[in-house]
Amino acid sequence: MTVQREPLGSDATIGILGGGQLGRMLALAAARLGFKCHVLCPDPHSPAFDVVRRVTEADYADMAALDRFANDVDVVTYEFENVPAETATFLSARKPVLPDPKVLATTQDRLIEKEFVQGLGIGTANFAAVDSPQGLTAALDRIGEPAVLKTRRFGYDGKGQTMIRNGGDPVALFNDLGGQAQILEAFVPFEREISVVAARSAQGQIESFDVIENTHQDHILKTSRVPAAVTPAVASEARRIAAAIAEAFGYVGALAVEMFVVRDGASYGLLVNEIAPRVHNSGHWTLDGASVSQFEQHIRAVAGWPLARPVRRGRIEMTNLLGDDVNEVSRWLELPDTAVHLYGKTAVRPGRKMGHVTRVLGDAAS
Ligand code: AMP
Repeated sequence: MTVQREPLGSDATIGILGGGQLGRMLALAAARLGFKCHVLCPDPHSPAFDVVRRVTEADYADMAALDRFANDVDVVTYEFENVPAETATFLSARKPVLPDPKVLATTQDRLIEKEFVQGLGIGTANFAAVDSPQGLTAALDRIGEPAVLKTRRFGYDGKGQTMIRNGGDPVALFNDLGGQAQILEAFVPFEREISVVAARSAQGQIESFDVIENTHQDHILKTSRVPAAVTPAVASEARRIAAAIAEAFGYVGALAVEMFVVRDGASYGLLVNEIAPRVHNSGHWTLDGASVSQFEQHIRAVAGWPLARPVRRGRIEMTNLLGDDVNEVSRWLELPDTAVHLYGKTAVRPGRKMGHVTRVLGDAAS
């Protein structure tokens, strides 16, 4: 249902698909505005279950559970982009699903996503579709090396991708990624990685946060710093790109656009790597470092409320607590100007996102 709706009353119930830390932080932001949340997730240990009025522990394909969920909520949103298409279609026949499920169809497939971005006149790495080992050989001839081979669907945090530097057996390379549809991308010799978190309201208002600079550890986000060390021209172009993508989708909610900053002599360029149609780990700093958080912007948008214009509170450093990092939480608890967030996960696994800390340093101009 995409009909224009009245803004939700503050006592409305927001349905969230997915119960991870993003769902948890969305629900906390919703509660602050008076909303109730109902989270549907198959995992009984979902971090979001601890903080909401109602939970449904069910599979995303459990249509009877989805029907009950839809009956209980006023709007449905999601905290992860791999919501099955049938789930989104089933729910959108019953209640508004925001952002619109058509966004999922684009962002769930790296090939369709890159074609969409290029169609807006925005740069990406050179890429080619790969459907077979022979196709990989042809794609390597076209794209050259080094290159990154990725599955088109279900990749995250570096999973489902492999670097190709010195040739290799195309049959093995293709099969190692499960023999499913793939995309070959030129390796981008980027100077830095940045992201922009933006939100668009149902009325078309777009607000973006300051540009974020990201570093990764084993392909998993480790730190985000704001403002990114980029020129004002690069920063405003990055924000323009995020806004153009949000506008092209007629997007409602928060989204993140990950980009590579590339340098060519004295000039800089931006290439879009990925669009996340949801709140994003690189935007967690907004909880403590801005006048409004990405989570609240998302809730405002899906509720049909106006967005806030975000004001940054200082120079920000966000660090993810990955796996065993969480054992050092007391070190962070002792620091001034530091906010500690723990997601309530009990099982510690290497690389698992257990929490994050945000340090607000200096003033916003620094
Ligand atoms: P992704 O899963 O596409 O977000 O990729 C995870 C990380 O791998 C990115 O944040 C980059 O650090 C790196 N990466 C992915 N694609 C490329 C590329 N085409 N060129 C260079 N680095 C890449």
